[in-house]
Amino acid sequence: SALTPDAVVAAERWTAHNYHPLPVVISEAEGAWVTDIDGNRYLDCLAGYSALNFGHRHPQLIAAAHAQLDRLTLTSRAFVHDQFAEFCHRLADLTGQDLVLPMNTGAEAVETAIKVARKWGYRVKGVKPGQAKIIVAADNFHGRTTTIVSFSTDPDAHDDYGPYTPGFQIVPYGNLSAIAEAIDQNTVAVLLEPIQGEAGVVVPPAGYLTGVSRLCSENDVLFLADEIQSGLGRTGETFAVDYEGVQPDMHILGKALGGGIVPVSAVAARRDVLGVLQPGQHGSTFGGNPLACAVGIEVIKLLEKGEYQQRSAELGQRLHAGLETLVGQGITALRGRGLWAGVDIDPAVMTGRRASEALMERGILAKDTHGATLRLAPPLVITADEIDYALDQLKAVLG
Ligand code: PLP
Repeated sequence: SALTPDAVVAAERWTAHNYHPLPVVISEAEGAWVTDIDGNRYLDCLAGYSALNFGHRHPQLIAAAHAQLDRLTLTSRAFVHDQFAEFCHRLADLTGQDLVLPMNTGAEAVETAIKVARKWGYRVKGVKPGQAKIIVAADNFHGRTTTIVSFSTDPDAHDDYGPYTPGFQIVPYGNLSAIAEAIDQNTVAVLLEPIQGEAGVVVPPAGYLTGVSRLCSENDVLFLADEIQSGLGRTGETFAVDYEGVQPDMHILGKALGGGIVPVSAVAARRDVLGVLQPGQHGSTFGGNPLACAVGIEVIKLLEKGEYQQRSAELGQRLHAGLETLVGQGITALRGRGLWAGVDIDPAVMTGRRASEALMERGILAKDTHGATLRLAPPLVITADEIDYALDQLKAVLG
């Protein structure tokens, strides 16, 4: 339309159409707020799909990045650099695991988890060559690589990308007996999101994660927890598995680990699991680079104090209480934990897309997922007043 900014038209012209962005052109940001090229300010209620848990340009993270940029940015893993051990050590402590393997993006970390689980299956569990099976959940989202989309149940993510990688069995999410039935002697791992983000912030029934963990340990199967979106404070705990006091065999992390500055992901696991990798068997040119580690160290320091987890828990209650009052008033269902909510918009009122556009016009940035669901995941630095402001705008949009 005539109102569409030039930069939006140009982006459409020069890029593949693999996203459908809202027509806002952002040029600056700080904390929970972004500013567009015309100087309009918006409250960011998406937070880079949870990569911005600590807000935009957190001073401590920016200072660490600047300092590191002035010293050393890349060595590759051919040499050891002075930020590497500290990052891995701190992340091992945060996750309660023995070893850490840094990567860059979430999908790469999930690929790493799959490779390690298979190798563990052959070398430690004794699965026959080529037979390893990994159990995954319907409606999962673990990334966009060919292997990962092979076990996606979302046609948009999956269709037309075959031939597909075999070795995965899909079971309904939240159903323990389906996992129990699927486990056989070739099963090396169960790979799950403790809360399914892209599916619409789907929280499994209480006891599910505990049950998965028990089934895995009873059957010599690894529980791989994809905490890429749910981890690092988003749910009000450091990790979403912490709600059930479950220790997975592997934590898979990304997004907020890079502080919204650099892509940083990692897997963390016990020595008997990650120890299966020997020199030359896996790697990444940029994985664990000095800039990534320097920022990652500060991210972990921010989480060590527990302040962000507490903010997410307390402010999350406020967010959910406010949203609850809108159920039946334009919202049909509500899910989530901490500062994370999946809000189903009544299709009789409007689509999720229309709701996110109307919110944008009122200074709130949020995005729909799968048509009718609005995902709210503001930076954990958001204030109580800002949450109330966002709730007022949503009410106005729906009313
Ligand atoms: N796993 C989960 C649970 C995610 O939410 C995402 C991204 O949304 C990914 C994996 C993929 O991460 P990336 O986009 O960095 O590859």
